[in-house]
Amino acid sequence: MTVRIVGAGPTGALLAILLRRRGLDVTIYESRRDPRSAPPETGRSINLALADRGIEALRRVGVFDEVFSRLVPMTGRMIHDQRGSTSLQPYGMRAAEVIYSISRHRLNQALLDLAIRQYGVEVRFEHRLEAADFAGGVAQLRDLRADRLETVPMSPLLACDGAGSRLRRDMQAAALITASEQALDHGYKELSIPAGADGEYRMQKNALHIWPRGRHMLIALPNDDGSFTATLFLQNSGLVSFASLDAAATIESFLAENFPDVVSLMPDRVAEFLANPTGFLGTVHADPWSVGGQAAIIGDAAHAIVPFHGQGMNCCLEDCLEFDACLEGQTDWQRVFRDFHARRKPNTDAIAVMALENYLEMREHVADARFRLRSALALELERRFPERFIPRYSMVMFHHEIPYATALSRGRVQARLLEELTAGAATLADVDYVRAQTEIERQLEPLAVIRSSVTNECA
Ligand SMILES: Cc1cc2nc3c(=O)[nH]c(=O)nc-3n(C[C@H](O)[C@H](O)[C@H](O)COP(=O)(O)OP(=O)(O)OC[C@H]3O[C@@H](n4cnc5c(N)ncnc54)[C@H](O)[C@@H]3O)c2cc1C
Repeated sequence: MTVRIVGAGPTGALLAILLRRRGLDVTIYESRRDPRSAPPETGRSINLALADRGIEALRRVGVFDEVFSRLVPMTGRMIHDQRGSTSLQPYGMRAAEVIYSISRHRLNQALLDLAIRQYGVEVRFEHRLEAADFAGGVAQLRDLRADRLETVPMSPLLACDGAGSRLRRDMQAAALITASEQALDHGYKELSIPAGADGEYRMQKNALHIWPRGRHMLIALPNDDGSFTATLFLQNSGLVSFASLDAAATIESFLAENFPDVVSLMPDRVAEFLANPTGFLGTVHADPWSVGGQAAIIGDAAHAIVPFHGQGMNCCLEDCLEFDACLEGQTDWQRVFRDFHARRKPNTDAIAVMALENYLEMREHVADARFRLRSALALELERRFPERFIPRYSMVMFHHEIPYATALSRGRVQARLLEELTAGAATLADVDYVRAQTEIERQLEPLAVIRSSVTNECA
């Protein structure tokens, strides 16, 4: 049997590897050129934060070791205030609790290389899905080199074609699913911070840098060549927005006023601002994710999220493991799709909520003293009561065995506790830890219970 996959991004490539390991033949259709012979795209998140869920998936197929030497660990958030002072907020309380900056292009290449090396996997680049005919059970793809339409059977067709998924839009147009693309009123633009003359990093290398400014923010992730890639998140329209910043002089004064300590490290800032595209940010909701046993959407195509938790790709890679688990002992595609949706949807809904909440946290709260005290207390409570209390950020980023939905619900209880325990406290020494213990034991189940209830088998 041949499974057809649309899209050779991280989701499509990893899925192909896992399906092949189950003995299925796979053909991937990808609209772009082969990334192994094409230069990386510009203006589209050059680097990504890779965390435990993504690492777990990459480990399972042996790609993590391959990319490891090119990863840059980030141990915490380096906050840059308006005056240029910096402070590091550690991500976790253990040395291993770091996230990694990884090149999107390199990761994609490593996954695709492995997929293509498998006998039984074929990739057809420059083939674009153009339409799906669910009544006829076929899809139409255009061979962009020959400008020729090809018709292929679905059953099954797995669309991993990203946030703007063609297949999702066709399913929605045929009223077979409900779907929405909720746009954020902010967009993003990439700017570069080159390495120094001797290839050295010009800011602290092992951190994710943030310039939180309330309604907008700049972040920068390190690359492995001494440079950083910065991303400006800003409103699309309004007084201070991508729409209003349309001339060199206003762009320069906006950057200099808001990010004074970094402008000198971005020599091409204004030219890049004018030349680079403004990216769209939004959340995709779809329900269900499949049409009978014919076709399904997976990854960003089903549940794209805003990038503020650094989890979009991590979540997509975890999708692939979950989809693979649903194939255990069965090839009834309708059941596989149904089980996958039932198992996964509560978790992808949860990370969508947390990603949106994290935007406010990054652009506003990280600069706030009360927030910093609550964050420090969360780490302290984990140190004292590790069997019951793990900060929400850590559950999401460092604990793939804790589902996103659990992180969201426990996180809500924990947020209330942190609020109560820090009321009237100025430092960690002021916190009543006896009360903390009593409340934690009363309100939070031991994590061992959660871990033992998570199964790798599908419903
Ligand atoms: C600014 C920004 C920063 C981000 N940062 C992070 C981060 O730090 N950490 C993280 O985990 N995630 C991050 N993400 C999210 C991450 O980029 C996505 O979740 C991930 O790329 C989704 O993978 P995918 O394979 O599902 O889709 P995509 O990566 O979008 O891949 C889809 C593939 O399908 C192909 N395709 C599309 N349409 C068709 C068609 N009609 N026919 C054939 N092929 C088609 C495309 O060419 C592409 O190769 C970020 C996203 C953005 C926008």
